[in-house]
Amino acid sequence: MSYTNSSLISYTKISPNRTSPRNHVIDTITIHCMAGNMTLEACGSLFANPAAQASSNYGIDSNGRIAMYVEEKDRSWCSSNAANDNRAITIEVANDGGANTGWHVSDKAMASLITLIADICKRNNIKELKWKADKSLIGQVDKQNMTVHRWFSAKSCPGDYLYNKYPYIVKEVNKKLGTDSNPAAPTNPTTPEKPTVPTKPTTPDKPTTPAKYTQIDFIKDVQKAIGAKVDGIAGNETLAKTVTVSMSINNTHKVVLPIQKYLNSLTFNCGTADGIAGPIFDNAVKKFQQSNSCISDGEITAGEKTWKVLLGLLY
Ligand SMILES: [Zn+2]
Repeated sequence: MSYTNSSLISYTKISPNRTSPRNHVIDTITIHCMAGNMTLEACGSLFANPAAQASSNYGIDSNGRIAMYVEEKDRSWCSSNAANDNRAITIEVANDGGANTGWHVSDKAMASLITLIADICKRNNIKELKWKADKSLIGQVDKQNMTVHRWFSAKSCPGDYLYNKYPYIVKEVNKKLGTDSNPAAPTNPTTPEKPTVPTKPTTPDKPTTPAKYTQIDFIKDVQKAIGAKVDGIAGNETLAKTVTVSMSINNTHKVVLPIQKYLNSLTFNCGTADGIAGPIFDNAVKKFQQSNSCISDGEITAGEKTWKVLLGLLY
């Protein structure tokens, strides 16, 4: 997958607060508010601080200028949700009004936001923007490909002003994408029907390269195994239901199999994924813990850091 960046930017300050590369194609847009009337430079220096543990792909100030803080090929740390930020382009917009205005944004910022989103959609092959204001559709991008930070965290982001403007933004972006203005190609009534090609008898399927076991696949399988809501997006509910797993504890728990598959996909070799935590599993977990600055004891303790890293909850 090759990624490009917007040519609409007039300021660039790449933040260290990012994960490179993103692990999912770009198919979602998440608009955020800065909760302040920040300049692009002020927002850039905030995101330049590693202690802030925050970033966005783009920022827009109240004059309508656009900045890039995290390249599109990388995941920003923006929406309190790794799965979302891996698939979304995140955009922070400055507010020329405070909380009492629902974090109002200027008309210039709004115009730039619409132009930028249309540009992102075109370059990433997003044909149409879809918004239903329905949190239960997270990840179902054929039905809804925009999200809001307030779904993932106890925040008002993007503020009521932008939230209520989502339908307007969708309409304006889709106009630019020409989504409604493509008449169906006329059918040609005079073309005779082609004779149907007889189907070939039973050529055996070629072995295909197995699809990569992604973090979303992993999170869904874990959620199934621990009886959490299965949506592929880990949050506090999922974390609270995690169990302690090691070679000696819960070593045939249903969650062992997805951990083995996921560690294998990350090239921490677990051997054959058989659902049993044995010495090879123990060794792979320890190596994974080492490379993620966790206590390297081979024990994936319920609710603790190794689980958070596995589930993408640590920024
Ligand atoms: Zn936000």
